[in-house]
Amino acid sequence: MDPSEIYASLQKMSQTTRVLYIAAHPDDENTRLLTFLSRGKHFETAYLSLTRGDGGQNLIGDEQGADLGIVRTQELLAARRVDGTRQFFTRAIDFGYSKSAQESLSLWQHDSILSDVVWVIRQFQPDIIITRFPPDERAGHGHHTASAMLALEAFDLAADPGAFPEQLKWCEPWKVERVFWNASSWWDKTLPDQVDNKTVFGVDVGGYDPILGMSYGELAGKARSQHRSQGFGVSPYRGEQIEYLRLLKGELQPGSTDPFEADSHWVKMVNGTETRSLLVKMLEEYDMKDPLAALPDLLKMYALVPSEDRTPQWTDKQNRLSDIIAASVGLWLEPVVIAKETDRIQISAECLSAAGVSATVTGMDLYFPGDGNDLFPMLHPRGKAAQISSEKQQLPANIFVRDTFWIAVTPGANATPYWLQRPYSTTYQAADAKWRGQPEWDDLPAVRFRIQLGESELAFTRKLVEKKIDPARGEYYVPVQMLPAYHVHVEEQLCLFKPGLPSEVHVKLDGLDAETTGDLKLRIPSGWSVSPASIRIQGNEHTLYTFQVTASDNGSEGVITPVFHSHGNDYKQEITDIIYEHLPEQHIAHIASRPAMVLLMHVPEGSYAYIEGAGDLVLESLQAAGVNVEPLSVNDLAVTDLSVYDAIITGVRAYNVSDRLISAQPLLLQYVQQGGTLLVQYNTTNNFTLGRNADGASMGPYPFSLTRGRTTDENASPEFLLPDHPVWNTPDKITADDFEGWVQERGLYYADATADHYQAPLGFADPGEETLRGAILTTDYGQGTFIYTGLSFFRQLPAGVPGAYKLFFNMMTY
Ligand SMILES: [Zn+2]
Repeated sequence: MDPSEIYASLQKMSQTTRVLYIAAHPDDENTRLLTFLSRGKHFETAYLSLTRGDGGQNLIGDEQGADLGIVRTQELLAARRVDGTRQFFTRAIDFGYSKSAQESLSLWQHDSILSDVVWVIRQFQPDIIITRFPPDERAGHGHHTASAMLALEAFDLAADPGAFPEQLKWCEPWKVERVFWNASSWWDKTLPDQVDNKTVFGVDVGGYDPILGMSYGELAGKARSQHRSQGFGVSPYRGEQIEYLRLLKGELQPGSTDPFEADSHWVKMVNGTETRSLLVKMLEEYDMKDPLAALPDLLKMYALVPSEDRTPQWTDKQNRLSDIIAASVGLWLEPVVIAKETDRIQISAECLSAAGVSATVTGMDLYFPGDGNDLFPMLHPRGKAAQISSEKQQLPANIFVRDTFWIAVTPGANATPYWLQRPYSTTYQAADAKWRGQPEWDDLPAVRFRIQLGESELAFTRKLVEKKIDPARGEYYVPVQMLPAYHVHVEEQLCLFKPGLPSEVHVKLDGLDAETTGDLKLRIPSGWSVSPASIRIQGNEHTLYTFQVTASDNGSEGVITPVFHSHGNDYKQEITDIIYEHLPEQHIAHIASRPAMVLLMHVPEGSYAYIEGAGDLVLESLQAAGVNVEPLSVNDLAVTDLSVYDAIITGVRAYNVSDRLISAQPLLLQYVQQGGTLLVQYNTTNNFTLGRNADGASMGPYPFSLTRGRTTDENASPEFLLPDHPVWNTPDKITADDFEGWVQERGLYYADATADHYQAPLGFADPGEETLRGAILTTDYGQGTFIYTGLSFFRQLPAGVPGAYKLFFNMMTY
């Protein structure tokens, strides 16, 4: 913290107003308004996103589903570090596009998610709630509407001790003053004319802050640009920005026209009045050239903090104050993990007083904040501190004092995010009710440094950190994670078998050392056989093991899971690395199962090319099925003899992410004309309006437009509109049975089926809606064929859905 940040933090301490923004997904939040409230009004602000965005599409990598939710969680946290806002979630899973709030709320179980919203309100204690969406159909996506409906319900219930009384063991009922909808002229063009400062308000959030050296909009642009997996990099906003607030519930302060004026909490807080006057004085006198001059007043204020008070108001102010004091005197306190074994870690607790203020370390404690996990069960009960050192040590100016010690840990204890540790379908389950709402596991131990400054003894709590050094990047922090002692990994992404024929499954075993002993087995679907039944592991000479698996003749399916049994423990998890430059490194332990599927159809025998799009596992899935398909770089298109390929397939959103592909399109169409098959998976309408770019190039040989048409019900019945069409008949016959067992959705971004020259063989209708006909569009061109498909093969193939393979193969071999 530099002196301007210290000053901004003091400004924030002087306010008691708290604002909670509520919407449904990562990226729904209005970062401009949040930044204005956090940095301009100095309020404590938070964003509650009902979901972690797990159902969306990933523009920067392969993660989907729960792993994508982890990426989005971290992107939100990165945005919040920029705009100075806190982040919360509910247990709701983003199951993909939802056409109504009723559908969303029934899948999520209305009461569970409502209780989570109430819980977050009681935890954070906001005076004002702001929703991004209206509580009706105008919100569009069912998740959006539901987020506003739940906010209004929770407004009433949070204050009612009869509602969700089980929460009151840990928190108090809380009365919110009012709820606004952050409306936009996008919904209602007449909004600016409706501003009456009674029910509709216009707020300019585009102000410039000379202490920040930028406008709130510029900072908001930086926060918004953290949503890289959604491609939301934006330029900073400068100049006037009017945001509109429409009062939905509650009342303004009597006689006020200020939407943000709220009851001051100072009078109700222990020592509140004295603290407030001290803050007013400090803000007047604060000298950026001499931050140390504020130290006597800061220490006076520290003495006023009621140490046992755990209300959010005092907790936040106490944390800010302790950071301000540390920054003012250049106090560097950090417990760093310096060595890691599977069951213990070594910590160096480091103290430095850099600015020359004489200080004394009077003690250090290891502190366990939570009470729910068993990360360190050998040591201490939860919520307790254990003394590391009680020795008084002088902290000479600018000289480090260090204490190193070991603590025991449970291997693998925090290798899986808390919300993924229990089975889930449409809502996540937390093993401990108190973790709900938290963005991530907040239960790592901390070191509490006791430091004497002059006459005052202060305590500073610092979470364990781990650091890495990269010659190109310099030093960076990584989350402290305890991984399991051993992990297993099936090399095949997907296990595909021909009926009755043995096929190899390769298992990699990590973590072995010379002393390791155990047995490695493969769990297989019933009726299948595996050889050998078990492999004896001794030492670490080999790490890759091969099993022969034979599927049953009747095509039954299931999963294959490797299990390493060693000294009474079963190890069946693999580690997925989620590594992006803009996010903390994550190593996530998942059960190492693979879908196992029997190929009861013709597998294409020709040679195929795959042009990668925005990231999907279709290429890997086809390879696993034994298809001879290779990646083809857009850069190589002009210098490759395309005629060797029986079909060229483009990955999802390939034309959205590559302008080069658009310019190379004449080559691909020439390839079709000369007899090739071009199979294009879905692209979005975003920068590809009408299926044409500005130059008039088209994805197909004849123009067609893309629509936002989609089928969100994964069980919607197919309509075979052209039953004699080749995609239904060659080489394999496709029937309604082949549309069983699909996951999450049927498809999205369908083509406009009325385009000239094209056939549309497939129709789908979501419940209560009209049939959409653009999920598959085909046309013959010259000697070859062009096919566009919005069907979600990028979800179905990695999930091992047999009917999806059959249909995809028919299209490839068209
Ligand atoms: Zn959204």
